[in-house]
Amino acid sequence: MEQFSHLQRSSIIQKLESTNYDLIIIGGGITGAGIALDAASRGMKTALVEKNDFASGTSSKSTKLIHGGLRYLKQFQFRMVADVGRERKIVHKLAPHLVLPEKMLLPVLSNSTMGMFSISIGLKIYDFLAGVKGDDRRRMLGKTKTLKAEPLIPEKNLKGSGLYAEYRTDDARLTIELIKSAFQYGADCLNYMEVKDLSYDNKEINGIVCHDHHDDKTVSIKGKYIINAAGPWVDDLRKINNSKKGKHLFLSKGIHLVVDWKKLPVQHSIYFEIEDGRMLFIIPRDQSTYFGTTDTPYSDDKDIINIDFKDVKYLVSAINSMFPAVELKIEDIKSSWAGLRPLIYEEGKSASEISRKDEIFTSSTGLISIAGGKLTGYRKMAVKIVNLVNNKINKKYNKKYGNSETLKIPLCGNSFTNYNDVTVYIDKISNSLKKLEISTDYASYLVHNYGIQTDSIIKNISGSGRSNGELDLLRSELDHCINFEMVYKPLDFLERRTGRLYFWSDSIGNCVSEILTVFKNNFNWTDKKYKIEEKILIDKMSQIRNFTDSK
Ligand code: FAD
Repeated sequence: MEQFSHLQRSSIIQKLESTNYDLIIIGGGITGAGIALDAASRGMKTALVEKNDFASGTSSKSTKLIHGGLRYLKQFQFRMVADVGRERKIVHKLAPHLVLPEKMLLPVLSNSTMGMFSISIGLKIYDFLAGVKGDDRRRMLGKTKTLKAEPLIPEKNLKGSGLYAEYRTDDARLTIELIKSAFQYGADCLNYMEVKDLSYDNKEINGIVCHDHHDDKTVSIKGKYIINAAGPWVDDLRKINNSKKGKHLFLSKGIHLVVDWKKLPVQHSIYFEIEDGRMLFIIPRDQSTYFGTTDTPYSDDKDIINIDFKDVKYLVSAINSMFPAVELKIEDIKSSWAGLRPLIYEEGKSASEISRKDEIFTSSTGLISIAGGKLTGYRKMAVKIVNLVNNKINKKYNKKYGNSETLKIPLCGNSFTNYNDVTVYIDKISNSLKKLEISTDYASYLVHNYGIQTDSIIKNISGSGRSNGELDLLRSELDHCINFEMVYKPLDFLERRTGRLYFWSDSIGNCVSEILTVFKNNFNWTDKKYKIEEKILIDKMSQIRNFTDSK
């Protein structure tokens, strides 16, 4: 495997400065990552820059579902449901270890706005639009079967449920595997490189001017076409380009809360209606259960998104009113995250009514911005925008690249033919861990995160001078992420490459100094830098459990 690492940062920057790219992408979220893979795999000379870490924006803060969006059926958005719904299976095939089939249970209560009949028809249409076949098609369960499937649902008022197919993933891992795949096709992708300005030749954009956060210097990169895939920051770049006119973004904030699985021991992912008519998800993951989300207009600092106490109370009380026996308390929350949906403003519509469809705006100077959309639809968004660039290159430079190949490109970490192979591989990893005297609980965590790359992580443990099993595993993972996943800061690793911060925070507590020391040694940190990074990490570990009072 070729190194994708900050240890090569200076040579990557040299290349960025000396190449005239076909396409430069601003933003390393799922949208930019998908575009980078599509363009690079067609043979375009492609660069991607990200101001922070890859996936540090909305693409690590979602509900982490690859789903068709059942609720959009209610808004008659059939086209979007069909498009996104069909993508689910494709994305699952591209990374079956990372995009996991997940049956969703939709309980029907006597006070639900939709009864068993309407839910049955709704789910049937949902399956039809998304082309769901065979055993994956929805099943309606009566009261007894529902209680058997999910004993936590109270019997009172229960009529039955619909059980239907979705997929769950880790959004940040999906993004990094796309970026690594793009890198394997020759894309030059770099994080901690912030676009501050655009350069022009005769009123046409011909490049970007960046601030390199690592070396604190200016880096200029030239390209024929520039795509602004900056998510919630799309309008900031349009402003720099003097093209923020007409349509603009509308940001909607959503939060999620995580508790120990034992506190909310659901057997199933559940999608349920709450008293105000909104729908919430509950999703079990490893030893945790997470739930959300909210949908509120947002106009504060996009780089620091606090979690309001009132949103937390709202979600906790929704859980308690659906599952009174659980008696969830705010103190039970072990972590949380908040993200911003970069939606396109529609006059007179509330946050939850605004369409999630994507749109492309091209400015008179040539900045191509893309906004809206869903994690699930990243691939189709990429096909659309790279087709547009391909046509432009053809017209202006008389050169034509091929059609999109991404339907057939397995993402990094995938060498499985189907999901069954993934489960067999988890068993194999479980045996290896047993031999190394490491908890087998890590087997599915490792395989769902890294896929086949788990082999080299395990091999690295076997080779090292052993001390403590779990610490050795952590070190080996970190080594992999520094060398092959462009990890530069502790939170890149703990928050976005592994999700340990949110879902397995107990596994970090005693290892903070070990983790920081690995960074210190790899990146020649001074003692002062060590202290700064230590404070950032410790602050974050407390911030994910602390909430702010609303203004
Ligand atoms: P981002 O992920 O925000 O990426 C943009 C990137 O651009 C950022 O990393 C940012 O740092 C970078 N950037 C900004 N300015 C600059 C600059 N000047 N220079 C360089 N880089 C820059 N979708 C689903 O399909 N399923 C779900 O379950 C789901 N749940 C959601 C739940 C919530 C609460 C939210 C908020 C969204 C959810 N979505 C879901 C939607 C999905 O998460 C988003 O559509 C998607 O992540 C947006 O990705 P993006 O790449 O466009 O934006």
